[in-house]
Amino acid sequence: RLPITFEDVPKTGFFVGRHDEVEILRRARGRVVVVHGIAGIGKTSLLARAFPEAFWYSMNGSESFEYFAWQLSLYLNSLGYRALMEYLRGGGKEEKELFELILEGIDETESVVVIDDLHKCRDETLMRMLSYLAGRLKKGTIAVASRVKPPLGIEGIVYINLGGLKPEEAYELAKKIKKGIPVDEFAEIYRITRGHPLALILLLESPGESSEEARENLFEFLFTEIYRSLTEEEKRMLLMLSIFEGPLEYEAIKALYGGRNTFSVLHSLLRKGLVERRGRQYFIHDMLKGFLREKETPESRTYYLEYAEYLLRKNTPRDFLKAFEYILRAGATGRIRELVELRIRRFKHLPGDFPKTYRMILSHAGDNPYARGELGIIYFNTGFFQKARDTLLEVEDKIEGLFKAEVVSTLADVFLMLENLEMAGRYLQKTRELAENLQDPEVWLWYYMEKTKYEYYRRNLEEALKSAFKELEISRKHGGAPENEGLVLLHIGDIYLDLEQPEEGIKYYEEGLRVAKAYGLTFIEHVTYMELSKTHYILGNYRKAVSYGNRAVEYFLRIKNYRRAVDALAYRCVSWIGLGEAERAEEDARELVRIAHSTGYPLAWAGYIFMGAAKFLKGEDGSGYVEEGRKHLQDYPWLFEAVIQELGRVFEFPEEL
Ligand code: ADP
Repeated sequence: RLPITFEDVPKTGFFVGRHDEVEILRRARGRVVVVHGIAGIGKTSLLARAFPEAFWYSMNGSESFEYFAWQLSLYLNSLGYRALMEYLRGGGKEEKELFELILEGIDETESVVVIDDLHKCRDETLMRMLSYLAGRLKKGTIAVASRVKPPLGIEGIVYINLGGLKPEEAYELAKKIKKGIPVDEFAEIYRITRGHPLALILLLESPGESSEEARENLFEFLFTEIYRSLTEEEKRMLLMLSIFEGPLEYEAIKALYGGRNTFSVLHSLLRKGLVERRGRQYFIHDMLKGFLREKETPESRTYYLEYAEYLLRKNTPRDFLKAFEYILRAGATGRIRELVELRIRRFKHLPGDFPKTYRMILSHAGDNPYARGELGIIYFNTGFFQKARDTLLEVEDKIEGLFKAEVVSTLADVFLMLENLEMAGRYLQKTRELAENLQDPEVWLWYYMEKTKYEYYRRNLEEALKSAFKELEISRKHGGAPENEGLVLLHIGDIYLDLEQPEEGIKYYEEGLRVAKAYGLTFIEHVTYMELSKTHYILGNYRKAVSYGNRAVEYFLRIKNYRRAVDALAYRCVSWIGLGEAERAEEDARELVRIAHSTGYPLAWAGYIFMGAAKFLKGEDGSGYVEEGRKHLQDYPWLFEAVIQELGRVFEFPEEL
């Protein structure tokens, strides 16, 4: 039986956005255009909108190519092109001849032929026809909609990968469905749907329904239209991807998926628009994520742990942090100790380099003492000494060995910072005992590092220098992490500076800088800039002092290490004063005062004194500021004196002060 009619183009009614796509489609004369994207994303609506006058053919999957050709011939006939129909009526079945007639018919009538739901097509002839037409069409257009990107090559073909509506377009659609929808409700829906029009409609439609029912509608749509038709392998990969927050790179997917066919499964999901790629990263649509997570199985734990193993093998601080996060997410708190050991051995400076991220991750570790110890180390590294002291004292006796040694040696340092020399001495002694027990060169190194500082604070400079060279000896012999050597060189430079041999100091700092740069030791590199800034200040090279200071200040503020930032700011500030640049000095002084108020770090109060000096420099009365500084530093009279003395190199306060 011959079909006597052909389909109408669907009515679009209310339609939003898609301006660029409509434009591309309307200019596609002589081309085959393929619009691909997941179910309900708006392919049909878009084609109907762009081509209201087209020959429209929806695939249902059971038709033959011949049936399609008959329908098309009817349409072309109605436009006055009869050859195709005559050929078919005469019993013609030659593929090549059919293709030629179709080409001629479409071009002669300048028709637009739309083939909707191409993914349902099972007759290979139709695919061959599309390949044949692509590159040969001149005046006609073929537009195709498909949930799967068809493998048609590139010549003469335009592909449009249809994604969600833009926020403003989606909002327009949402308002049409639900008048006066509050912006926050819309924002939430947009977050889930990412502008997928049908999902948006499903979530907002049917006013009688609860949001729970609306969600069910959406999930049912996702299940029947998207999920059910996937292969078991595709489902497994999608489920696996859905349990991860962020995107994954191919190597990670391969490691996790474990199958030999990772690439082909992933590729198939890509072609179906269920997975997207950005650079080397793959991720799935948020909407699917929510849906798949409903099906989340206890397997997620296994995947998290496997992913963590993958990350640990990559052996970088960032991957380590991510691995830590996933191990905690898998609830494997039993592994915290081992991770902390790894951190101590391989990523010594991680708490200083990534304090915020690390702290956030540790907050999921409950009151595990090893994790609490790490938190204490972070507090110390970010200049919160009281908090560091309290946290470290609390865990000191709950942990052992290497862990205890790190906590104890850090406590020695914390007490030094808190000006409690007696306690610092006691914890130094404890560190020594642990070093003797453990016979771990790392711990010996910590001991000498603390000893150097301790002697240095007590102004036993010769002792300090001896200890520092001991550090250098251990770190070179031990052949351990290059950061140790970088640090030691720094300490030696510091001591020479105090022995009033700044040129000798610069020699060691510059050697340290070379080590830091060669091994990418960012933290040490910037500590060295700070020391070089200070040394050049002392030598009266204020320009150099400022230029080194800039790098240090910028870095330490960025990583929120306020203690170091304050040191660097203070030297930069006095260098500005030395250069007579009152405005710049004032800016730094203000920053110091701001930090003083938020952290209470004593040296930061010197900001008031510097502010006073800057005011005097401008010919104003700065005495009020100096007084304010003196008041804040009343518990640290020696610090006040030291600041005044240091400032004395570049500035003379008026007599009456
Ligand atoms: P697909 O063909 O990709 O499966 P449809 O074109 O059928 O998707 O669109 C799904 C639903 O979303 C339909 O109800 C349609 O009216 C609506 N829709 C899609 N795109 C738009 C748009 N740009 N403006 C308004 N509604 C749209």
